[in-house]
Amino acid sequence: MLKKIFSYFLILFNLWLPTPQATATDLMIRAQDDTTIQGLKLTLKISPSLPLQEGPSGYGIEVISNGPRAFKDAQGNFMSYNCYRDARGRIIVNPQQPSLYRFLFSKPVDQMPFFDDVSAFGTVGVVFNMYEKDLQSLTGYDRFQQRWNTRGTVKIYPHTTKEQFKNLYPRKNYDNYYQNAFYDNHPTAGHVLCFFPMRDQENQYTSQSFDVVAHEAGHNVLNILRPDVRNSPNSDRRAFHESFGDMTAIFAALTFRQLREKVLQETGDDLHKPSFLSVVGERIANRDAAQATHLSFHPSCEAHRLSERLTKALYGILADYYDLSRISLEEVSVSFRRLFFKTILNSNLSTFIDFGRSLKENTSSLVFQKLIFENFAKQGIDLRKIPQTLQVCIPETHPVKAAKCSTIQMSRKTLLN
Ligand SMILES: [Zn+2]
Repeated sequence: MLKKIFSYFLILFNLWLPTPQATATDLMIRAQDDTTIQGLKLTLKISPSLPLQEGPSGYGIEVISNGPRAFKDAQGNFMSYNCYRDARGRIIVNPQQPSLYRFLFSKPVDQMPFFDDVSAFGTVGVVFNMYEKDLQSLTGYDRFQQRWNTRGTVKIYPHTTKEQFKNLYPRKNYDNYYQNAFYDNHPTAGHVLCFFPMRDQENQYTSQSFDVVAHEAGHNVLNILRPDVRNSPNSDRRAFHESFGDMTAIFAALTFRQLREKVLQETGDDLHKPSFLSVVGERIANRDAAQATHLSFHPSCEAHRLSERLTKALYGILADYYDLSRISLEEVSVSFRRLFFKTILNSNLSTFIDFGRSLKENTSSLVFQKLIFENFAKQGIDLRKIPQTLQVCIPETHPVKAAKCSTIQMSRKTLLN
């Protein structure tokens, strides 16, 4: 009798529980890393015009997994899965179970073994989507190779293994890449993003940080748009690449309403205060765009360190503009981001000064012009005159030498090349 009642209950429950029809693919990503902003996750809705395959792959992004490939749940989403753990702790998936099972045994994607794959995929997608909205297409002319660069397909390795690394780079040493991540235009694999384990916790990876993934995707984008900037002998240009990566992470975070509200709440509406937004790559890089620069302190020749003055000038403009303009943070972010991207395309990017001057020339807003001039000046970058020579850092690979700064004078003609 009891059994009969239970089966009637099951039927009724299944009829009552709606089965949502997927109109878009849902995908979950980390808002930062798991220790920042209480492990907040963000949900993306991917339009059906961009069908995503399991892996995930699609939209010119392909995840190369080191474990089980991410699959879609019963609703076709990368979101929650109708599954349970067996006695040995393995996750068993029930693709065709009724609603009650889904209700009782669904696991969210962040508890699945492939969450890092899904999160890294979605974060890179957010970056590409943001740029493609503003620039229409991601193409750039490579005058050295005399060809047009296109986005093609980027391969993401969220947990780069020794074997995967050896296949890509047979001559390089994996051990040098702990706690690191990089973008590369690989001679045969094309655009590649690699993420490595932390030095002290081998089950933690740099792909578990929104900032780090967005920063590396930024390198990918800049290398398509402006291939001339990479591997330049000019230290300002090399540093520019790093600053672009950090600004990409900041702009990408600001595309989310939840994060805009959170940062305003955290800082009491004052973006000049340090926050999860201004600090890029909390657990790994920890660069704070809101912190003042010690101008008397000569920076090291390392590109990330050199980039900080430029990032701080740019972040300062954003924070000041939000203070003055009385428009929403979303509008502030979009208008400054578009100005920033437009300038990337038409500035010669040979020095921070050239870039700052181009930024000013690309806007008719007197407020922006004033803020650009002031914020660059605060970082010791004087936009009043174009330098004919620049003291540039010589690239040093030795860590001790890199801490010291060896500089040479470089003429403007050389800087433009
Ligand atoms: Zn970088």
